[in-house]
Amino acid sequence: MQLQELLYTQGFGTRRVCFGLVQQGLVTVDGQIVTDPSADVDAVEGLPYTVQGTAWEYHEKAYLMLHKPAGTECSQKPSTYPSIYTLLPSPLRLRPNKGAVQGVQAIGRLDQDTTGLLLLTDDGQFIHRMGSPKHHVPKVYEVTTKHPIDDAQVARLLGGVVLDDDPKPVRAAACEAVAPLHLRLTLTEGKYHQVKRMLAAVGNRVEGLDRSRIGDLVLPADLAPGQWRWLTSEQVDALK
Ligand code: URA
Repeated sequence: MQLQELLYTQGFGTRRVCFGLVQQGLVTVDGQIVTDPSADVDAVEGLPYTVQGTAWEYHEKAYLMLHKPAGTECSQKPSTYPSIYTLLPSPLRLRPNKGAVQGVQAIGRLDQDTTGLLLLTDDGQFIHRMGSPKHHVPKVYEVTTKHPIDDAQVARLLGGVVLDDDPKPVRAAACEAVAPLHLRLTLTEGKYHQVKRMLAAVGNRVEGLDRSRIGDLVLPADLAPGQWRWLTSEQVDALK
């Protein structure tokens, strides 16, 4: 692939802008400055390159995890708090898809006050599959509760509770009181405010909510709130 085309696919702007970036000596590939915009580059997954001193990797499709901080909205047009998309560098938001700027999108949403693991991608099929009710990827939430959790609440969460918008009960796939005010809850579906509504249905209340895991993917301890990281191809495959 021509270097200017590679940069274009990765969201560095129009083909003309990408041409200019290379010609001005602002791009390195595998540690070498390349000034020929049409230089042929072997676009292998993970190829390291830099643009204006920032290190990047080539990915045909972008799959990433973000440690969502509290006080951010999972919306492109937030109503009150800053959008999570402002935490991402612009190429990830400007990656073209069939000619249009589409960038990465969050897979599902977390409430503004919820923290933790959020996945983003520009792979529409992957978003669709992960969001499908048939695709039961377990998601683990660390819940700080207002009142101490008792055995009866755990039993009801596992047995199923009815929420106000659907007569069909929803149940936790797993539920464990880790400490009197710390519940670890695993859900395989993602209804609106589901954890908060399930806890309210058993007479408790969520004071803090953090998603620690999606499938086999655990939020890394060294990924600080607000930081993002590429998923490896093994991590992506494991989620499929
Ligand atoms: N359940 C909730 O209530 N809120 C979230 O952000 C995620 C799951």
